[in-house]
Amino acid sequence: MKYRCATCGHEHDGLPDIGMFAPDPYLDVPEGERAERTTLTPDRCVVRDEDGEHYFVRGVIEIPVHGHDEPFGIGAWVSQSRENFERYASNDAMAPTFGWLVNRMAHYDESTFLLKTRVHFRVGNRRPTIELEPTVHLLAVEQRTGIPIERAWEIVHRYLSN
Ligand SMILES: [Zn+2]
Repeated sequence: MKYRCATCGHEHDGLPDIGMFAPDPYLDVPEGERAERTTLTPDRCVVRDEDGEHYFVRGVIEIPVHGHDEPFGIGAWVSQSRENFERYASNDAMAPTFGWLVNRMAHYDESTFLLKTRVHFRVGNRRPTIELEPTVHLLAVEQRTGIPIERAWEIVHRYLSN
């Protein structure tokens, strides 16, 4: 569906999802120490520090777009207990779990780091969906009430340079 963009003035086709490359606790580890202290795959991450091991999985925050069937997807990382992290790795069916959101998303004025979430695991190899705790944080509000397409593209342009 062609869309004349209010942010850049160009015409766009389908709305792309965006994603955070890694959890912030991974990015906080100095590059020279990452080989020793971290493990990162497209779906999972472990960070080791003086407190022990920290476990993260990548999921997607789905935000409804007004007038569109498909939600806008923001790939993001959440913490998991070691037990749940290992169950996810073994592809067992899982009830929703608690996780802290561990990405600071630049397009929200109020920090998104350590927002509380519920993580819904899905069968097959689709990434889990991340449900924000229903607070007044703008990200949580947007997930509950949806956003206009203009807002989705505004967010996309924060992450893509075209
Ligand atoms: Zn645009």
